[in-house]
Order: sequence, then C-alpha cells, then structure tokens
Amino acid sequence: MIIVMEKHAADERVERVVAELIGRGFDVHRSTGADQTVLGVVGDVASIDQREFELFDGVQEVFRVSEPYKLSSRTFKREKTIVTARGVPIGGHEVIIMAGPCTIESEEQLLVTARGVAKAGARVLRGGAYKPRSSPYAFQGMGVEGLKLLRAAGDEVDMATVSEVMEISQIEGMLPYVDILQVGARNMQNFNLLSALGQIRKPILLKRGMSATIQEWLLAAEYIMAGGNYEVILCERGIRTFETATRNTLDISAIPVIEKLSHLPIIADPSHASGRRDKVVPLARAIVAAGADGVLIEVHHDPEKAVCDGPQSLYPAQFARLMDELRIIVPAVGRSM
Ligand code: PEP
Ligand code: MN
Repeated sequence: MIIVMEKHAADERVERVVAELIGRGFDVHRSTGADQTVLGVVGDVASIDQREFELFDGVQEVFRVSEPYKLSSRTFKREKTIVTARGVPIGGHEVIIMAGPCTIESEEQLLVTARGVAKAGARVLRGGAYKPRSSPYAFQGMGVEGLKLLRAAGDEVDMATVSEVMEISQIEGMLPYVDILQVGARNMQNFNLLSALGQIRKPILLKRGMSATIQEWLLAAEYIMAGGNYEVILCERGIRTFETATRNTLDISAIPVIEKLSHLPIIADPSHASGRRDKVVPLARAIVAAGADGVLIEVHHDPEKAVCDGPQSLYPAQFARLMDELRIIVPAVGRSM
C-alpha cells in the first residue's frame, strides 16, 4: 500500500501516520522528495481499511499496489489451476462445454436433453433442483428428487453434473448426486454459504454477482479457498448495466482480466447474460474466442414448454450446430475441444 502525503505536509503529520503503521506491525519505507513524502507500507495490508489512513491529517491519497485476495491470485500461484470433476478437467488445454436445462422438470425432459447435449459433445450436465426464482410464486425446483434424476441422466450419458446450492442445509444432501456445486449470482456474497463450501472437498462453480466487481468476485472465491477447498471455477454470467436490450450485459472483458489476475478456471454463461436464445449463439462464440476455459449453456428438449428460462434455452439441434462452430473457433485460439 502506498500513502502519498500532501505537499509540504508538516513532519509531525508524517510521523503520526508512520507511528500508527509501525504500531500495527507494518514496515514503512519512506521516500522523501523536495516537497513531498511518499510512504510504502509492507505487511498484511489486506487487513487495512484504506479510508482510515485517507482521513489522517496531511494525507493526500492512499492506494493499494497488491490485491486484497491471496489464494485466488496469480501472484500467489503462477500456474493455472485445473479443477477435475468426475474426470473432466476444467482449466486445462481443453475447452469444456456444460449444458442442460435451467431446471430439472421430469425424467423425460432431463434424459432427452442430456442425450442431445452429450451427443453434441458437452461434458458436464447442468440442471437446477433448488431454484433462486425472482418471484416466490414461480416454480422453486424439484429438490433431491430432481438431483436423483440428474445423477441418473449424467451416469447414462457419461457426463459430470452441476447443480445450484442455495443454502448450507442443502450441501450434505447434494453431495451424492452432483460433481460440481454451483453458487448462483444471487448468492455470490452469501459469506456463510461460501465458508461452508470451503469445508467440503468438491468443485464449486462460483457465478459472478450481477452487481459485483471482479475484485468482490475474487474475494468471494477467497472465502471458499480460505477453508481449504481450492477447487473453484469462476463463471461470468452478465452484469446489470443501464442497457435493457438484453437480460444482463455479458462482461466479456472479465475473461482476459480474470486470466491475468487469477489462476482459477474462468468460464462464462451466455444464456443468463443475454436472456434470449438468438443472442446465446453469438455470445458463446465470443466467450470461447476471448479465451474462456468453458461455456455454460441452457438447453431444453422443448423450450416452449420449459417451466423456467425457456426463451433463453437452445433447442438441441441449435446447440449441436453451435458445437460445430465452436470446434472451428477453439483451435484458432490455441485450445482443443
Ligand atoms: C442458473 O444457472 O440457472 C441461474 C439461476 O443462474 P444465475 O445465478 O447466474 O442467475
Ligand atoms: Mn436459468
């Protein structure tokens, strides 16, 4: 952390800041110019609320030069993390496609959809059993009965499974059926849930909150990793902006930004980002071209009848065509599929 003192700040003001920092156990490196002093602070600066020092008399500016997150940062670990879910490596050379319905509705719906996406080359089957619906009157999910169907469908088509966990009490009951637990955008800052997920040893797919900065998102990952669960996959799913033409705005730049800041795998979800199936296909192409480690896509065997997110769900045939296109883009960016 760097503290820039005001020009011609009195010596005693500089000394007060220095004394406070030393008193808190930090090393202070001073650089004194003709009319201005700059202090370099070394130590566990993540514990400092920089506003405290901004309010000291004589301080002009305080800024951080190191990230407040550690375990998730590239500075801490240079080489990329590969998260393996039921033998599927996420974050390696291969781009992994995850697909399936928004929510599990029935055995038939799940099996027909699973067979379609598996045939097209998807490796992870998605399906929500606990749904964070914006309205309390909307379908809330099938619960454990749905998870059993998910496991059976995943086993039949040889795919790993991913499903959303909404609260701590659901974790235990989900473990036999899912290979990746998803934390939804609405729960990205549910810190108690994140800490509880840090205690298990199973991959977590952490979606970006719809109004979360990249730093807040990485700090959410840090909550999980601080508990010793290092298998975190980040998922960009669109953020809220002033734009209303799409459900959210896909922050495509988050992909190369995360790639630089963190060693964790980064994937993106064009379905929740756009909210419309005609926009899902071009966004999926862009996600892969931007260097993501995977794509999470909603597919439904009969989207007109879907109980949740039908308009953004691809038809299986449309998904298969998209996969053919991705097989052209992926090698162009130096990856395999
Ligand atoms: C989902 O994946 O079905 C979902 C609810 O996503 P998000 O948390 O990104 O809205
Ligand atoms: Mn959905």
